[in-house]
Amino acid sequence: EGDTDGEHVAFYSRDMNQGMQERMRIESGLRQALGNGQLELHYQPKFSIASGQIIGAEALVRWRHPERGLVPPVEFIPLAEATGLVVQVGEWVLETACAQAQAWKQAGLPTVRLAVNVSAREFTSALPGRVMETLKRYGLEPSWLELEITESTLMHNIDRVIGIMDRITALGVTLSLDDFGTGYSSLSYLKRFPIDTLKIDRSFTMGIPSDTNDCAIASTIISIAQQLKHKVIAEGVETVEQLAFLKTSGCDEVQGYLFSKPLPAAEFEKALRESWTP
Ligand code: C2E
Ligand code: CA
Ligand code: CA
Ligand code: CA
Repeated sequence: EGDTDGEHVAFYSRDMNQGMQERMRIESGLRQALGNGQLELHYQPKFSIASGQIIGAEALVRWRHPERGLVPPVEFIPLAEATGLVVQVGEWVLETACAQAQAWKQAGLPTVRLAVNVSAREFTSALPGRVMETLKRYGLEPSWLELEITESTLMHNIDRVIGIMDRITALGVTLSLDDFGTGYSSLSYLKRFPIDTLKIDRSFTMGIPSDTNDCAIASTIISIAQQLKHKVIAEGVETVEQLAFLKTSGCDEVQGYLFSKPLPAAEFEKALRESWTP
């Protein structure tokens, strides 16, 4: 009996140890990846429902791993958030998106707004200055840049967060509230946030049109956005039925596999040149 328990303990602790080693392996790998060009950005187009034109793109990070291939952000961003390494990843992402925007500008491509995801740990008083400095260095208009922030960012110290948001919007950079409705931020704060766009989370879009609750939530978010004079975009649009519902409900913009997956820079550029319509 005692021996069996002993084995169990040994088994579990070895298992835990492996989990820890795996995390450390990913973390040091990611640190190296930052330095040796293994990270890349893919760009998912955002469309205006009214015009059918590409009006922007969301930059999404991937890790081109020598053995594991293209690693999606779910496999390293949560860990990077836990360790703080996400701050360096975020710096790389902003830098790379701005360099790309400058290259597209110089190539004479139509102006589109690039959206960059910012995690809660990056949302410090140092962010507005870093954003301004980076835009200046690449000679970009602030209106080319949008920052997507999630409700978890807003949950910390609300007055401090609003102060940072105000400094960012004062630059002319826009803010959108990502994954809206999935967090716990109070509606009473919503009116105080200087945000441009509300982003309907894919978990709600997915249920349209069959799930009446998801339809109700999506159309309620659209009407809140309209009344607060914000734009509203739905992410994860995969079907024409979802698009039809969103259009009828007054949604402004859409993003999803129905139109395009996130694309490597060269492919997004091609889509932009062809002024691709959904
Ligand atoms: P998110 O910000 O909610 O991004 C949307 C995710 O949904 C992306 O996954 C995108 O590829 C996926 N998606 C878009 N349209 C569809 C669709 O029609 N169907 C389905 N099934 N999925 C769709 P991705 O690229 O794997 O990113 C996952 C998450 O990782 C992002 O969620 C974001 O939270 C995080 N992330 C990605 N890039 C960055 C980054 O540069 N910085 C930070 N801090 N987080 C990032
Ligand atoms: Ca996002
Ligand atoms: Ca999102
Ligand atoms: Ca989402």
